Amino acid sequence: MSARAVFLDRDGTLIEEVGYLDRKERVELYPWTIDALRALNRANFHTVMVTNQSGVARGFFSEAVVDDVHAHIAALLESGGARLDAYYYCPHHPDGKITQYAVRCDCRKPARGLVDRAVRELGIDPAQSFVVGDRWLDVELARAVGARGILVRTGYGLTEEMRPRESLAADAVVDNLIAAVSWILGSVG
Ligand SMILES: [Mg+2]
Ligand SMILES: [Zn+2]
Repeated sequence: MSARAVFLDRDGTLIEEVGYLDRKERVELYPWTIDALRALNRANFHTVMVTNQSGVARGFFSEAVVDDVHAHIAALLESGGARLDAYYYCPHHPDGKITQYAVRCDCRKPARGLVDRAVRELGIDPAQSFVVGDRWLDVELARAVGARGILVRTGYGLTEEMRPRESLAADAVVDNLIAAVSWILGSVG
């Protein structure tokens, strides 16, 4: 049986949006992030971070820095009894400065590559899954893979909400991640 997952954007969804995050010291979880993840962990959802980190392609920071930031997030979560099952990111951007990352890839959201990786590596069924993020591209990703998409108003979410996209509707628009988790748990009964 395939597993269900909640795919979680990082910046503006799990942690404060601070622009290009180049040091782990700048990581700030939202006050509700640990509770939200614990609820998903208890409900047997796989929790998978999916984040665009074009700062790598642009030469602002290395993949080692991204890994360091994610190890730090994992430690913060663990100290609160919560966990993410996987940390997936896209380091690419077509206009990047670093040649090896300056490609038109299949994993930069809203492209579906990171979700496809979770299908392969974790046996996730996207049709039973959700995407939560603060950008329309997160909702587009949900549409692309047949998952349900929730826009949160943290990060860029409020601005995004005020600029609706033609023929792209979220399944829900909610204040923050904990509200998104309530919506998800309510919708699966
Ligand atoms: Mg974001
Ligand atoms: Zn990519």
